[in-house]
Amino acid sequence: MIYLDHAATTRPDESVVEAMLPYLQEEYGNPSSLYLLGRRARQAVDEVRELVADFIGCRPREIIFTSGGSESDNLALRGVAYANRSRGRHIITSAIEHHAVLHTCGALEKEGFEVTYLPVDQDGLVSPESVAEAIRPDTILISIMHANNEIGVIQPLVEIGRLAQERGIPFHTDAVQTVGKIPLNVEEWGVDLLSMSAHKIYGPKGVGFLYVRRRIKFQPQITGGAQEYQRRAGTENVPGIVGLGAAVRLMRERGAQIEAHCRHLRDRLLQGLRERIPEMRLNGHPTKRLANNLNVCFAQVEGESLLLMLDAAGIAASSGSACTSGSTDPSHVLLALGLPPDLARGSLRLTLGKDNTEEEIDTVLEVLPALVERLRSLSLRLRGNSKTRGHRRAWDFAELQR
Ligand SMILES: *Cc1c(COP(=O)(O)O)cnc(C)c1O
Repeated sequence: MIYLDHAATTRPDESVVEAMLPYLQEEYGNPSSLYLLGRRARQAVDEVRELVADFIGCRPREIIFTSGGSESDNLALRGVAYANRSRGRHIITSAIEHHAVLHTCGALEKEGFEVTYLPVDQDGLVSPESVAEAIRPDTILISIMHANNEIGVIQPLVEIGRLAQERGIPFHTDAVQTVGKIPLNVEEWGVDLLSMSAHKIYGPKGVGFLYVRRRIKFQPQITGGAQEYQRRAGTENVPGIVGLGAAVRLMRERGAQIEAHCRHLRDRLLQGLRERIPEMRLNGHPTKRLANNLNVCFAQVEGESLLLMLDAAGIAASSGSACTSGSTDPSHVLLALGLPPDLARGSLRLTLGKDNTEEEIDTVLEVLPALVERLRSLSLRLRGNSKTRGHRRAWDFAELQR
């Protein structure tokens, strides 16, 4: 199999599995226990807390270990919204956030909060000016993701962070797609809350963290024990946290090298596809994007069919976010870029990782163009036979091509 869906999840690195194994076997202590076995588990958790804090430029106590990106996003939004509701009820976010942010905002709206969903430009960028204009006296939170999981576009976080800091508004960012890949420093960047998930960087699933700056008013969402400095109850996922630590160590040591490798393969892939497939559109900013992300649309191609044919050819890819696959709704991110729904349905996301090779890319360059051609000729024949004969697209591909 050729695995090209690293934005959905990654294969845990050997070093991650090795680091976790003792904590699934003999080191099974509860970090809250006083005897040696428990203290050793506590020490393992605390070491990762220090490592992570050092990695993103915060204090260890500002890290809350969670069950992953979705929980971190929920905790950030609900935690700040509920703790600050007496100050105001307005939240600013963008139209292209992950559903963990968007659906949480939707739930908060039902509870009386007001949410501004900022549009993006045709490249997928949120403008800092639009953030500034959306700020109101009752704004209590700004949440803008660092890099998008579908189109890989990297937002101007530093500018938005500076703005939020000037106005004294807590600023959350979903950095699940960037921690370990793009160096970041929450202190320098004016970020008050940050979500991370281990399984996107060769760590285990079901573990991540939320960074919360110490002055931020914040209400825990899981109550019970005093774990995570009273901010998230529940016995710590010790093997998971140790695995997260190993993943962060891997990226600290090899992140830059992995990024360069992915960028090289991604550029080779894009260039090869451009040479072989007409009427293909690159979605998202051409350079302000993750090194491992390629998201393209093919005119006259239905994304789901393409994915199934790729799967049959042993290539694992995605039409966008894993959360929307299985449904035929076009991606909310592609619609926000201004794509017509029928073109957005023809999208393909290929995301690369450290173990992909040039040979794999070359195989994809042989297989994919042929599949696109087959689907296009099928769709032509179908349309030729139907009442829609002669029907013309409501949009001009040349205008949308990038
Ligand atoms: C994967 C992802 C999430 C969800 O993380 P989980 O750990 O799978 O819950 C949230 N935001 C972004 C940008 C992601 O890519």
